[in-house]
Amino acid sequence: MSALTIVMYHYIRDLARSRYPGLKALTVKAFEGQLDYIIQHYRVCAVQDVVAARRGERRLPPNACLLTFDDGFLDHFTTALPRLLDRGLPASFYPPAVPVEGGRVLDTHKIHFILAACPDRAKLARQLLDMIEGWRGDVALPPTDALWRQHAVGSRFDGPEVVFVKRVLQRGLPTDVRSVLTQRLFEEFVGVDVRAFAQELYMDLEQLRCLRRLGMDVGGHGAEHVWLDALDRRAQDAEISRTLAFLARVHGGVPVDWVMCYPFGSYDETTLELLRSRGCALGLTTRAAVAPDLGRPLELPRLDTNDLPTSATAEPGAWTVEALRGGHG
Ligand SMILES: [Zn+2]
Repeated sequence: MSALTIVMYHYIRDLARSRYPGLKALTVKAFEGQLDYIIQHYRVCAVQDVVAARRGERRLPPNACLLTFDDGFLDHFTTALPRLLDRGLPASFYPPAVPVEGGRVLDTHKIHFILAACPDRAKLARQLLDMIEGWRGDVALPPTDALWRQHAVGSRFDGPEVVFVKRVLQRGLPTDVRSVLTQRLFEEFVGVDVRAFAQELYMDLEQLRCLRRLGMDVGGHGAEHVWLDALDRRAQDAEISRTLAFLARVHGGVPVDWVMCYPFGSYDETTLELLRSRGCALGLTTRAAVAPDLGRPLELPRLDTNDLPTSATAEPGAWTVEALRGGHG
């Protein structure tokens, strides 16, 4: 069995000429360079190829690669799609249901634009700490220094202040508190009507259907885009049901051999069991690795776009070398 490299994309835009040049996004030039790099070193597959290989019906080509686009951003339709079609590359797209159908901006995306609009991370983190202090008394919240110690830790791509803002607003505080704080910061720093912003940020149902007509796959990314491992069985089941109902609207019928891309890469044994019972064929995580084989199809690792070079003429990067060795490190 040959190795499979799955690459994950989020925002892709002409940053310098966009309204939010501070957004953490891949530039169009870097995206084009990376596609051309991938064409040189990998064989880009469609989801159906991986599903067939998982069933043992056909083998994956050597150095197989799957391109995945998370969160249903309009960037994927306007910027990524034409460049994929130009190169004859298949890809798969994972929109959460709520932003597409409900005209809402997910808190996690509001946070990205708050960060983009406020380059002084230390100031933003301090302001958030002050806002949390303001809530004390009404709600029981963890002590400030405990929150800071727990959440202000650097990650692969972010410094401690950015991680603090993201984590506290994503899951470090009770849901009601963090949603209100996120909306307040969004109004202060971004200051755009949420409904209008959602229309500019996400694809709509017609665009998703169009992706499928053009040979691309559209899979599940939850309804509310929450950490599945934080939900009990009933709530996980409800999220998966809503995901499937949404995909049925995109596909024009209940999807067969569908793919689940875990929001925030979060899942547990319950998730896997529920997905198996719903005919899910592949599950995509955010664990950075090359899959040496398809032995654990519901827990496939993925590389971030930042893990691969962004120029056709770049030397093979470390992950490419590993994939060439078969994904065994
Ligand atoms: Zn996501």
